[in-house]
This record gives sequence, structure tokens and C-alpha cells, in this order.
Amino acid sequence: MKTIDLLDAPLTDAFARRIDYLRISVTDKCNLRCIYCMPAEGLAWIERDELLSFEEIERLVGIFASVGVRKLRISGGEPLVRRDLPRLVRMLAAVDGIEEIALSTNGILLEERLPELMDAGLTRVNVSLDTLREDRFEALARRPGLGNVLAAIDASVRAGARPVKINCVAMRGRNDDEIEAFARYARERDVAVRFIELMPVRENLGIAADAYISAEEILERLSAIDALVPVAGPPGNGPARYFGFADGVGTIGVISPLSHDYCERCNRVRLTADGRLRLCLFGENHLDLKGALRAGESDERIRERISASMLVKPERHHLRVGEAASQMRAFSEIGG
Ligand code: SAM
Ligand code: SF4
Repeated sequence: MKTIDLLDAPLTDAFARRIDYLRISVTDKCNLRCIYCMPAEGLAWIERDELLSFEEIERLVGIFASVGVRKLRISGGEPLVRRDLPRLVRMLAAVDGIEEIALSTNGILLEERLPELMDAGLTRVNVSLDTLREDRFEALARRPGLGNVLAAIDASVRAGARPVKINCVAMRGRNDDEIEAFARYARERDVAVRFIELMPVRENLGIAADAYISAEEILERLSAIDALVPVAGPPGNGPARYFGFADGVGTIGVISPLSHDYCERCNRVRLTADGRLRLCLFGENHLDLKGALRAGESDERIRERISASMLVKPERHHLRVGEAASQMRAFSEIGG
């Protein structure tokens, strides 16, 4: 008779959601200061010793993979400011069970690092791009760099890091007059542009309420350009809803954390740069995995803790438009 090891069962939370996706923040630092994400002066950065080492991340990923995690996303802060990132990608690509490693980046350093990253096992990239205008880029990101980002997107398409997804935070009065230009951009290349609703966090409460545009409004405005048809979207499409234009060229998506709840399809948890497992992007509950690793706990014990934590993964977030989310930290600190 074979004994069933319940701890080997795939990670599932109390609402029967299968968790197979781990988002890993490798740093809280960034080379941009997007107005909706970080203050101009930066944050109180995490001390170097408090960051998980590559070896610690690799070990945790091995434990997650043993309970069914198959997809990883490396994020930050800006992940490419962490030294030697391709080495981490190579280590994670070699973990048994890991099928996909994606990167979320602002694109500033991507073009030069892309060949090494792809060679190490990176499968996909998401690049953030909130404007196609250089003067505006500097106003929104508080640093220059549009040329680098555009070149990185083209290089990613050429390198086959498909589907290349562009994330654009839509903001009334700041970039919403570019919705049409972004639609054209998506139709001219093999990329999916996804408009994200602005989420209120501590750093942007000054602009969040006025600048918020719902995904439905974005779709309405896109429909005025040309008829939109719902499409399946690229593989690994996560929380986005995708649309194509009637002539079949270009893909546009919307990610609507506030207006259109995607929590019921949530399949992910997040590891912060300082080693905490966050069960929901919003909300405070977390599990201190760095503490467990550094206290010398065994893989089995850590796996047990992770499985048990799934029982307190919240059913949904309760963030609402215009609400002062005073308890929330900056998005980058959370490890978006
Ligand atoms: N630095 C990388 C980047 O910008 O892609 C990765 C980290 S960033 C926190 C991940 C994504 O979160 C980006 O697409 C960014 O635009 C988005 N983001 C950050 N703050 C946000 C906010 N307040 N509302 C909506 N999206 C936000
Ligand atoms: Fe940096 Fe990304 Fe935050 Fe912009 S959104 S400040 S690029 S972490």
C-alpha cells in the first residue's frame, strides 16, 4: 500500500483555488520613480543582509515546486538593478517542476541584459510603458529613458520572448490622451498592450482618486477607434481580459483590480525581497519564510508552513476606488 503524503498535495487555498504561480521580488530598489509607485526620494531601502540571497530563493522555489508551483515571475522594485540576475534565472530554471520564468521590468536595462537572460532560461517579459512621449516619460517616471524602453520592447519581440506584454497604468489627465496611440502601437507589432487601473497606495493618494480611469471606460474609448472583439489573449494571461480589433491586428488587454474583481481566479502568492510570503497583494497577512530559512528549519517544515498559510489566503481584496488605503505600503515595497 502506498502512503499518501498530504504535504505533496498541490497548494490549494480555502476557496479551492490552486496556487501554481509565485511572484518573486528580488529587490525593492528601482532606477525610476514612477509617480504612482514611489516617492521622488525613494524608500527606506531594505538592508542588504535582509534581502534573500539567490541560494535562499532557489531553495524556496524548490519547496514551492514540490507542491505544484510551475510558473515564476521575477519582479521588484526593478529586478534588473539586482546584480547578476541571469545567475538567479539559471538557478531557478534548473529547479525540477518549474516550467516558466517571466520577468516584469521597466525596460531601462533590458536590452543589454536580454541575451544573457534568455540564455539562462527566461521565457517571457512584461515591460512597463505609460507613455510614448519622451517629455511625458520624464514627468511620469521622474527620470529619462523612453528610448531604452522602446528599444528593449523591440529587442524582446525579436528575441522571441513572446508574448511580450506592455503594462500601461492609465491615468486621467496624465496619459489617457494616448490610449489611441497605444492602440496603434499594439497593432504595429507583436505585443499585447494591457491598460492597468491605477491602484491607490500610500505614495499616490494625492493623484489616485482624480486620475483613476476604469477598465470599462478604457474599453469604451478603444471601441470608438474601431470595433473590439474579445479574444483569448496570449498564454499565461493571468488577470487581464483581452480584446482584438475587428481586422484582427493587435491585442489590447485591461487589468481591472478595482472595478472588476479577478480575485476568484487568483492563482498566485508573492515572495517579497526580504523573504515574506504575501498571500494577497493587498492586506497585511504574511508568512516569514526568511526567518524560517535562517532558523535552520527543514524543507519539510517550511513546506508545511506554506501549505498551512494557504488556509488564511483571503478570498478577495477589499480595496475600492477613491478609498484611502492608508494601511498600504508603496507598491514596489510590496513587491509588485
Ligand atoms: N519595476 C518593474 C516594472 O515597473 O514593471 C516591476 C515592478 S512594478 C511595481 C510592476 C507593475 O506594477 C508595473 O507594471 C507598474 O506599472 C505597476 N504598478 C505599480 N504601482 C501601481 C499602481 N499604484 N497602480 C497600478 N499599477 C501599478
Ligand atoms: Fe520602479 Fe516599476 Fe515602481 Fe516604476 S512601477 S517606480 S519602474 S518599481
